[in-house]
Amino acid sequence: MILVWFRQDLRLQDNPALSAAAEAGEPIVPVYIWDEDGEGAWPPGAASRWWIHHSLVELDRSLRGRGLRLVVRRGPSHEVLAALAAAAGARAVFWNRRYEPSVRERDARVESVLGGSGIAARSFNGSLLFEPHTVANRAGRPFQVFGPFWRHCLTLPVAEPSRLPPGKLRAPARWPKSLMIDELGLLPQAAWAGKFAPLWQPGEAGGQARLRRFAAHKLGDYADRRDDLAEDGTSRLSPWLHHGEISPRQVWDVVRRRSRKTGVFPAGRGEAVFLNEIGWREFGYHLLWHFPQTPDRPLRTAFERFPWARDPAGRLLRLWQQGRTGFPIVDAGMRQLWATGWMHNRARMIAASFLVKDLRLPWMLGARWFWDTLVDADLANNTLGWQWSAGCGADAAPYFRIFSPDRQARRFDPHGSYARRWLPAGESPPAPCVDHAAARDEALAAFRSLSA
Ligand code: FAD
Repeated sequence: MILVWFRQDLRLQDNPALSAAAEAGEPIVPVYIWDEDGEGAWPPGAASRWWIHHSLVELDRSLRGRGLRLVVRRGPSHEVLAALAAAAGARAVFWNRRYEPSVRERDARVESVLGGSGIAARSFNGSLLFEPHTVANRAGRPFQVFGPFWRHCLTLPVAEPSRLPPGKLRAPARWPKSLMIDELGLLPQAAWAGKFAPLWQPGEAGGQARLRRFAAHKLGDYADRRDDLAEDGTSRLSPWLHHGEISPRQVWDVVRRRSRKTGVFPAGRGEAVFLNEIGWREFGYHLLWHFPQTPDRPLRTAFERFPWARDPAGRLLRLWQQGRTGFPIVDAGMRQLWATGWMHNRARMIAASFLVKDLRLPWMLGARWFWDTLVDADLANNTLGWQWSAGCGADAAPYFRIFSPDRQARRFDPHGSYARRWLPAGESPPAPCVDHAAARDEALAAFRSLSA
């Protein structure tokens, strides 16, 4: 018997751990463990919990369609798995790898505890095209600039997604006890997260449908539309990719198949730019793996001394969180985030730059807020995005290039439709909470003080 430990791979197709267990031909016990401590300082935030709850319901439904079911437990992973393996008489535990620093430590512990009890542990690559430990520059060191990283990756092979054989999988004679998914208590306040339900369909089927629709209607124009705030021009696949309901190999495969007729890969500019963004996701994981301190500390250590502004009672932070800064494009982004659990990439960049450069508040505060409110909150991508915006990460926007919210709005929301959509109708907008020109000068002075 084999335990398949589901984590950020909540799908049946192209799931190497599950496929390997199916190929072994032994009974399979699928397990999900809610192990908050095992996630270190970054357990899933409120919006992610909403997503995970619904995704687990979907996963259990799909597994039942295959003659299995999801066994749900809570507690330290090593204890839960060792106890479950012993009680069920399992000889092995299979899982797909994760790359977050605390999770890597936790998983190493799981492996050693299982090994100590004579239970085999096997892990697989289920969530990246190019795993960080397989990619290095010519000097054998990690890449720190995206262009060369991605050019190098594009010379490497990408495996085709694996298919789970159709039909029933082998179930154990007796199912181990399981909690109800509801008992995990993942659903946050109904008044807030209740609004997400009509917008998102967590789970594998929802992710596949979204990928198909995007490929059919939007991918060709992606390069021209992706920065237009009012347009639904991006894939919105990020939550499904984060929770592993679709895999980047499946995404890659959809793009690859579009080259069949012409033999040219990628088939066009839309496809090339889209893969480039998938590449940024890979780059985020590359950086997180090699620089595990970066969720909490700047990669460029000079920024440790950055003179952040004082915000005694957290007033400015709250204005930003609530979308009340008085800068319509910033406020619209923050309200889209609150209302939907997601924000357009351009709006994320504008809102992040505003927090760090106009309000001069630490990027870590922004990263924490995003972590709690994004349905796609992802430690690698969020860290990359915030350090990029703050100018303190690898290949980051230089600190001295400061976004003007008004200029960004004119360029990426020229008709004001995005702002109108998310700002409350009929309410007069608050006065700007800072003067952009003065804030810009102060930010530049603060930046110069780093090299003084
Ligand atoms: P698409 O444009 O359709 O791109 C396809 C996929 O590529 C995305 O789903 C995502 O997996 C990946 N991707 C796209 N852009 C980026 C990028 N800049 N960096 C890394 N991966 C990218 N993305 C997250 O998934 N989780 C986060 O927590 C997150 N936090 C961010 C914080 C800040 C401050 C910034 C500036 C960006 C952040 N991003 C994050 C990256 C990006 O904004 C989102 O991935 C993107 O907006 C998701 O929308 P989409 O699926 O429509 O993207």
